[in-house]
Parts: sequence; structure tokens; C-alpha cells
Amino acid sequence: MSALATCSQCGAELQPTPGQVFVTCGNCGAAVYIDRSQVVFHFAVEPTVSADQARGLLARWMAGNDTVKDLDQKAVLQSTTFEYFPLWYFKQSEAKGYRVVLEPAAATSISELRRLQLPAGDLKTYPSHLDGQAVAPTVPLEAALEWAKEQGVPHERIAEAALVHIPLYTFKYGFNGQTYTTLIEAATGKPLANLFPAKAEAPYQIAGVITAAVFLLLAFVPVIGVAMGEEALLMGLLVCFGLGALALLPLFALAAWVAAKV
Ligand SMILES: [Zn+2]
Repeated sequence: MSALATCSQCGAELQPTPGQVFVTCGNCGAAVYIDRSQVVFHFAVEPTVSADQARGLLARWMAGNDTVKDLDQKAVLQSTTFEYFPLWYFKQSEAKGYRVVLEPAAATSISELRRLQLPAGDLKTYPSHLDGQAVAPTVPLEAALEWAKEQGVPHERIAEAALVHIPLYTFKYGFNGQTYTTLIEAATGKPLANLFPAKAEAPYQIAGVITAAVFLLLAFVPVIGVAMGEEALLMGLLVCFGLGALALLPLFALAAWVAAKV
């Protein structure tokens, strides 16, 4: 931190108490974050999702198609926490307008956070009353800029850097002896998870292969018929369609059974 920190908006001298990093400018009222290397604007996103609604969104996600069947019934919720999580917000200038690049500003196992959409209109001046719920950044701006550079965003293309605190519910739950974490982003209700009990794909693939093999075999019947003459072809087609129609029911039952079990 430089000895003399100045406001990003009006240039007035800031007078933080020792160790204070979230500062409101006494001159213009702008909220800023005092990083080791520079002073940047500090924003917060307002939550629109209550704790009950977040639990409902979690249950819906667990009952959805990405997770293992009946996860909403079998998972045991261990903890729910709410906090404002810090993200580095980089506005990258492009040929047409801007692209926003996000990087977590504190340790997290959920790298999905980078893929959040933060419309500029959702960014509000950070209010100091959030201090008690806001996680302090531990990733310096320079480290985040280095990361962005590795992702193909050079420093000179970054038009603006800011710190944004986003509202997050963190749910920890147990399933089959393991603990998992799912976040509900409380502005949009979007679930975020890197690791979760996922549907097994193998049974679906096996059912698909069996179905394909049966119909491929049946398709050969008229092909053999062609080699044996016109009447045999007609018979072959009849056999093919007849057996095909017969095979549909058990194959459909197999697919339904897999869908119900997995
Ligand atoms: Zn100011």
C-alpha cells in the first residue's frame, strides 16, 4: 500500500485507519478498495434470493438432470452460510465494447465463480454496513492480473479493474460418506458446483449400444434378401419390420428402466 492513497473517483487523499482496506471517500462518497498496488473501485451486488428461496433452488438443482437420481432425498444438509464473496472484476476492451473477466479474490474450491454473469447495472457502490459479512480479499490485484494475462487478457487491454463482492449462499451436504459444496449465487439464484454426485453415463451408453446393435442386425435381413432375389427381399423386409416392431417394446422398457434407476 502506498503511503498516500487517493480516491479513484475524485483524487482526494484517503485516510484509512491502519489495516483498513474497505474505504469510503470522505470527499465524494465513492467506495474503494486499497490493494497493495493501487486503489480500485469497490462494488457490491445486491441479493434478491432469501435463505429459504436459496434452499428451494438447491433442492431443485439436486432433483434436476445433472445430479444423481434422488439426490434431493438422499443428501444430508450439513451447513448453510451466507457471505459476500470477493471477485476481481476486469473490463477488457474489445473491438465492439467490453468483455468482463472475473477472478476469485479469495480462496475457493468453486472455480465456476469465474463463469458468473455480472451485468454492469447490478454493480452498486459497496455499502460499509456489509463489512461484517464480506470476505476480505487474499488474492492481490497483481496476482489476478497475472492470471488474466495467462488467460489471454494482457494488462494493456484491461480498461478497468474493480473489486466486487457478490452475495453467496454456501451449502455443504453429505452423500455416500463424502461432503460436497454447492453455491447459490444470491443475485440470480444460479447454482454453482465443481464436484457433485453426477449421473453415471455408462448405463445410458450400454442401453444405446444394445439398441443400435439390434437394429443394425435387423437391417441386414433385407440385405441378405437382396442377394437371394426379389421374393426373398420382400420376405426380408417383412421380417425386418416385424422383428423391429417387436424389439421396440423391450428396448423401450430397457431405456425406461435405466432412466428410472440411474
Ligand atoms: Zn473521492
